[in-house]
Amino acid sequence: MPANPRAALIGTGPQLLRPESTTVTETLSAVPAVVRDVYATVQARDPHEPEFQQAVHEVLESIAPVLEAHPEFVDGGIVERLVEPERQILFRVPWIDDRGRLQVSRGFRVQFSSVLGPYKGGLRFHPSVNLSIIKFLGFEQIFKNALTGQGIGGAKGGSDFDPHGRSDAEIMRFCQSFMNELYRHLGEHTDVPAGDIGVGAREIGYLFGQYRKITNRHESGMFTGKGVQWGGAEVRTEATGYGAVFFAQEMLAMRGASLEGARVAVSGSGNVAIYAIKKAWQLGATPVTASDSSGYVVDEAGIDVDLLRDIKERERSRISEYAARRPTARFVEGSRPWQVPVDIAIPSATQNELGEGDARTLIANGVRAVAEGANMPSTPGAVAAFQAADVLFGPGKAANAGGVATSALEMSQNAARQRWSFDDSETKLRAIMKAVHDAAFDAAARYGRPGDYVVGANSAGFERVAHAMLAQGVI
Ligand code: GLU
Repeated sequence: MPANPRAALIGTGPQLLRPESTTVTETLSAVPAVVRDVYATVQARDPHEPEFQQAVHEVLESIAPVLEAHPEFVDGGIVERLVEPERQILFRVPWIDDRGRLQVSRGFRVQFSSVLGPYKGGLRFHPSVNLSIIKFLGFEQIFKNALTGQGIGGAKGGSDFDPHGRSDAEIMRFCQSFMNELYRHLGEHTDVPAGDIGVGAREIGYLFGQYRKITNRHESGMFTGKGVQWGGAEVRTEATGYGAVFFAQEMLAMRGASLEGARVAVSGSGNVAIYAIKKAWQLGATPVTASDSSGYVVDEAGIDVDLLRDIKERERSRISEYAARRPTARFVEGSRPWQVPVDIAIPSATQNELGEGDARTLIANGVRAVAEGANMPSTPGAVAAFQAADVLFGPGKAANAGGVATSALEMSQNAARQRWSFDDSETKLRAIMKAVHDAAFDAAARYGRPGDYVVGANSAGFERVAHAMLAQGVI
C-alpha cells in the first residue's frame, strides 16, 4: 500500500505500490510521503527513462519546503499531475535520402503543461533522442518557463534523426516529413516549438515553411527562432548564451565579484556556447575553451569566436579544425574541458557532460562559479560537490532561461506585428535574467536555503505553476 492513503484517492492507481528502493527514501526523506510515492510511481511506470527520473528527482528533492508551507499543493495532487505530461505525441517520420533509400526516423512532442500559456519548448534532432530525453527536457521546461514570468507552458520535442553529414536537401525532406505529422498539434495559441541541439536557423526555416504550406496560414507566432527577415526576433539567436553569462554576472555580484579578468571554460560549440563566449569577452573575461563530441580546444589567447563560428556553423567541421588554424590553441581528443584551470565554467553542450570527478577537478583548480548553458549538464554528484565547496551554482533552469524568455518576446512581437531593435531586446533580456536570478535567490532565502539556486529556481518555478493549477481545477 502507498505510505499515504490519500495518494490513492488522488488516483494515480496501482502503480503507487512502491518498489524496493533505498535511494527514494534516503534522498527524498524530507518530502511528504505522498511525494515519495509519486517518485516511486515514476520509477515503476517509466523504468527505462533514467534522465526523466533524474530531472523529477531533482525537483522533488528541492521543493520539500514549498510543500510543507503549502499543504494545499499536496492535497491538490499537484505533483502527481505534473509528472504526467498532458499529452505525448510519438510518430513515424519517413523520408528519402540522397541515394533514393527510404529512411524511417522517430518523432516526439511531449506537451507537458499548458497551465501558464501555450506549450513552449524546443525541438532536438540528435541520434541520442528518445522518450526519456524528451520528457526530462519537457519537465525542466515547465519550471524554467514559469521562472521567466512570461506566460508560456512547457513542452519539448524532436527526433532521433542525425543531421550530421546530411545534405541540405536531406535536411529539408526530413523537416517537411516531420512537420507533415506535427503541424496538427501546433499553433500560436496551442504549441510553439523552437530550436535546440541540431535544430537551428536552417531547420526552423524548413519546418516553418512546411507548416505554412500545409495550413495556408502565415502564422508567425507558431514557431520561434525564425529568421529576423521573416518574423524572428533580434537577440533570439544570442539569447541563451548571453543569458547564461548575465546569470553568472548576477551570481558573482551577490559576492561583490565580477567577470572582469576571469578565465572562463565553455563546453560545446553550438549556438549556446558561441554566444556565451562572445558575451564573456564583452564583459571583460577571457573564454579559453570550446568543445564538441570529438574533444575540446584550449586557447590561451582566448577563443576567436568568429573562427569558431566559421568552422562550426558555416563549414560544419570538427573542433580540431580550430586548433589546426590557430597557433595559440591546442586540441585535446576524446575529453572535456573541465581539467583546464578556470574561474568560471559554463557547460553548454548537453546533459550529464560534467560529472562529480570533473567538478572536483574544477574545484581544486579554484572555480568560483558555474552557470549551466545546457539543460542538466551537471550530474547530481557534480551539483552536490559544487554546493558543498560553496561554488556559486546556477542550474540550467535559471541560467539558460534567456533563450526561451526571448522566444516569448518573439511571440509578443509577432502578435503585435512589431519589431524591436537589437539594443532594446538585449536590454529586455538583461532585465529578465536579473528577474530570474532574483526570483531564484529570493525563493532560496524564503525557504531556508540561502544561496542555493537549485532549490530557489525549482521552488519559484513550481510555486507559479502550482498556484495556477489549483486555480484552474483538476484537469
Ligand atoms: N531549447 C531551448 C531551451 O532549452 C529554447 C526553447 C524555446 O525557445 O522555446 O530552453
